[in-house]
Amino acid sequence: MRALLTGDNLLNAWLIGFVAVGIIAGVVSGFFKARKIQPSGFKWKQFRFEAIVAVITITISGALLGGLNGFLKRHGIIAFNHGPAAWWQVAIEYVAYFLLFDTWFYWLHRGMHREPFYRLIHKLHHKSTAPNVLTTLSVNPLESFINGGFVPLFLSVFTVHDATMALIGPTNILMGLYVHSGYEFLPRWWNKSWATKWFITTTFHDQHHKYFNWNFGGYTPVWDYLCGTVRKKYEADFDKIKTRSVRSVADAGEPQPAA
Ligand SMILES: [Zn+2]
Ligand SMILES: [Zn+2]
Repeated sequence: MRALLTGDNLLNAWLIGFVAVGIIAGVVSGFFKARKIQPSGFKWKQFRFEAIVAVITITISGALLGGLNGFLKRHGIIAFNHGPAAWWQVAIEYVAYFLLFDTWFYWLHRGMHREPFYRLIHKLHHKSTAPNVLTTLSVNPLESFINGGFVPLFLSVFTVHDATMALIGPTNILMGLYVHSGYEFLPRWWNKSWATKWFITTTFHDQHHKYFNWNFGGYTPVWDYLCGTVRKKYEADFDKIKTRSVRSVADAGEPQPAA
């Protein structure tokens, strides 16, 4: 059983998970269509569009990433450390992945908001102004390849332990679903504490879809805070969302910005 949990198999599992998530996301979204962050945001038309794009993206990007992973492994560029790992080694490798992915995502994402990249690549993802989990996969296949491609790139540069790969795969998949869930799970004090405010909230990315040129971060808002791209009303709105009652539609009347 233990031999099954090698980095190589886990890298394959990441890709399979990526595909499976598309199917699960579609089903789950159907059940939870009541919006919390944007109560009146759910539109079946948007959802149908996302489902079609997700299928196309998963097929193309899955094949490209699968081919790339296979090529890099065959040529020994991606290799895993199968030896025993101390917890702190796994922690260092995992934190390196987490922070480097966040950096990769922030700068490429910000770059994709510039023309002609926005129109050609990223605009598709922004057709969804009120995200649900399926929005995670509603991206141009090229964008999915750029974001997903960070995993093989990282593994080509760093030789990580099997246990680290066991954390990277699920993180890569779950973080995307989490920021697009449309629900704010974190407690009200989250952004008030210096210990916690560095981990992204769903509201943070939800507002990126609603207001466009703010909140570019993927795993953390660190680069946004450093570069002054956090939406000014983000923390105040987070507060509002956490205080209002479930059925309240306090922000339903807010004007929608132009794309
Ligand atoms: Zn964007
Ligand atoms: Zn998004």
